[in-house]
Amino acid sequence: MADIIQLLPDHVANQIAAGEVVQRPASVVKELVENAVDAGATEIRLIVKDAGKTLIQVVDNGAGMTATDARLSFERHATSKIRSAEDLFSLGTKGFRGEALASIAAIAHVEMNTRPHDDEVGTRICMEGGKLTSQEVTVTAAGTSVAVKNLFFNIPARRNFLKSNQVELRHVIDEFQRVSLAHPDIQFAMYHNGNDLFTLPSSNYRQRVVNIFGSRTNEKLVPVSENTEVLKLSGFVYKPEHARKSRGEQFFFVNNRFIKSPYLHHAVVAAFEGLIREQTHPGYFLYLEIDPKSVDVNIHPTKTEIKFDDEHTLYAILRSAIKHSLGQFNIAPLLDFEK
Ligand code: ADP
Ligand code: MG
Repeated sequence: MADIIQLLPDHVANQIAAGEVVQRPASVVKELVENAVDAGATEIRLIVKDAGKTLIQVVDNGAGMTATDARLSFERHATSKIRSAEDLFSLGTKGFRGEALASIAAIAHVEMNTRPHDDEVGTRICMEGGKLTSQEVTVTAAGTSVAVKNLFFNIPARRNFLKSNQVELRHVIDEFQRVSLAHPDIQFAMYHNGNDLFTLPSSNYRQRVVNIFGSRTNEKLVPVSENTEVLKLSGFVYKPEHARKSRGEQFFFVNNRFIKSPYLHHAVVAAFEGLIREQTHPGYFLYLEIDPKSVDVNIHPTKTEIKFDDEHTLYAILRSAIKHSLGQFNIAPLLDFEK
């Protein structure tokens, strides 16, 4: 029998990987904004058209890239963020898989303009369906701009699978809010179809929440803080009277990365026991700092699910710290559940 196994060409491998990393416009927003954060930007602008279906552009004033790095950034497994597998356990960056740009370029039209602060001219690179279509020297602002157009242009099934603009925009805004909540020191702005949706000046954690969710949020917030050997916890919960039937604002950040954790969510709910009605949900913005060695962020391509070494301890600390905060703010238990 003849041999039949072949290595897939790069552009095919990239398109397959893209299926995992890029589900919808919001996935592109997440990857591009995280790259801007990793590049040390202090100002990040997100420009979106048609909920990201026609354009997603992220402009940052971060480090920028040399011409060689700009070209390499679109290669699969090309990253400046880790060098060895051990580095995974001391990560200080959002990215590390070196897959995002390669994946995005495989399924869209991408134009990157980038310049390191010390260089006089920059580089413009255009990619289409994973192929380089042009690379030239250009005059451009220091930092990086990546524009992603016509997402899924070469995968009609994916493109047709996208939801309405309203739904896709909701996902984009969710991603934008998550990353801007994680980095209140960075100035963010978001525009949709030419309208100014968010302008977030550099500030602190409380002010960032208020700038995103409105000035009335301020009086809803109860500060939470705890400092133990395994966990440094800070952030806010909404006062119990602001618990809602809809899930509302619920955010966990571990080492400034937004994560989802049904288990830790349960710990928060447990802290509110007796204070909120059943079927209502507490709101929270909780920031956990944990030794990166005791967290595994590499269990899912989008990195929103992570594994903790000692979940039970985190659960207990979280629950008791929140209970304590609620107690300190003299929040009386809700005695009459029927009202
Ligand atoms: P990862 O973020 O996992 O390293 P990416 O494909 O997202 O992989 O990016 C590849 C590389 O390109 C990064 O490691 C970084 O060196 C460079 N890069 C990407 N975006 C930017 C940016 N906005 N500013 C500076 N460098 C960037
Ligand atoms: Mg990245």
